[in-house]
Amino acid sequence: MTRVILKRGRDESLRRFHPWVFSGAVASVSGSPAEGDLVAVYSSEGEYLASGHWQIGSIAVRILSFDGDPSAPDFWTEAVRAAFEARKAMGLTSSSSTNCYRLVHGEGDGLPGLIIDWYDGICVMQAHSVGMFRARKQICDALREVYGPALKAVYDKSSGTAPFKAGLELVDGYLWKAEGFEAGEASVLENGHRFIVNWSEGQKTGFFLDQRENRALVERYASGRNVLNLFCYTGGFSVYALGGGAVHVDSVDSSARAISLVDRNVALNGFDASQHASHCADAMEFLAAAEDGRYDLIIVDPPAFAKHRGALRNALRAYQRLNAKAISKVAPGGFVFTFSCSQVVDKEMFALAVFSAAAETGRRVRILDRLNQPADHAVNIYHPEGEYLKGLLLYVE
Ligand code: SAH
Repeated sequence: MTRVILKRGRDESLRRFHPWVFSGAVASVSGSPAEGDLVAVYSSEGEYLASGHWQIGSIAVRILSFDGDPSAPDFWTEAVRAAFEARKAMGLTSSSSTNCYRLVHGEGDGLPGLIIDWYDGICVMQAHSVGMFRARKQICDALREVYGPALKAVYDKSSGTAPFKAGLELVDGYLWKAEGFEAGEASVLENGHRFIVNWSEGQKTGFFLDQRENRALVERYASGRNVLNLFCYTGGFSVYALGGGAVHVDSVDSSARAISLVDRNVALNGFDASQHASHCADAMEFLAAAEDGRYDLIIVDPPAFAKHRGALRNALRAYQRLNAKAISKVAPGGFVFTFSCSQVVDKEMFALAVFSAAAETGRRVRILDRLNQPADHAVNIYHPEGEYLKGLLLYVE
């Protein structure tokens, strides 16, 4: 295996189990590894520290193991099994009301660059690194081994996430499927609500599993309320709001494909079509045009406004503008559930943007709850950067 030797004093973060080696910490490399090759990392004194995938860019190695051998035949099975055991401990693998969850959440599960979501027997995988993409067949075999007959298919959806050099055309598709498996979509259960998930045509792996707990909170607060669900995607929050006894829900998303699934999901859960309306529109424009006080529960769950640090200032301004509009429009005594999924916008920055938004409106606002990503979107304690979803539940007088 290629050896990567670190500069003197640059071994500290690995000794604290941080899963990345930055290129600036590398003193020398034996040989010339290809991107995605397994490499072993050593301190300047020659002490073995960890092994991982070699990468071209500011992160040189993404660590897979601090004490094992990632080239060992049972490495992937053990890694997938550990992720499964953690989900089992979270009560997600044998629930009668929820049969979808995130099985592998990258660094949070010690598998940097790998995402796997479980949709009642279908695993949808996204590789965010060349190393993970190259390991996809072994990962698929490991999933078959761990799940056994409960597994129906493994779908690779890395074409939009694996950072490949120009010219390499990636095609998404099944790595494996059980005999007779035909479906292109499935209906899954989340906290007793049914949702259609289309992994090949939908965004990300097909569904936003990270809002499971926050949707349940909306359900708790929705009774008797007029709800506006902005950036609704396939209507997760809308279905829960109706389940919680909302009088009416308006769902807004700019994606026509997402909107077409909202109506199906509302019907699938047995709600009356007169209680719900879908709007394919720009969320900010829809909100600006809404009558003041028309809604007494507004959900604001936009896509990541900042994908990298350079976009931070503009993103914070956009969060402030959007939240000021929502806070100013909500009826007295209303709730605003507001979120940010931008990794580079931390909790404090987001709270500051929402504070500035509230101050702009001059209304009295209480923070009732601080919201997070759920347990299956695990955060490695040595890699706090894995925390990305944050939200606030506001009560507006
Ligand atoms: N709340 C959703 C997830 C939201 S993801 C859930 O619980 O599943 C962000 C969504 O915002 C995507 O569906 C995307 O299509 C939509 N979107 C992006 N820009 C938008 C805009 N300007 N106006 C309305 N929707 C937008």
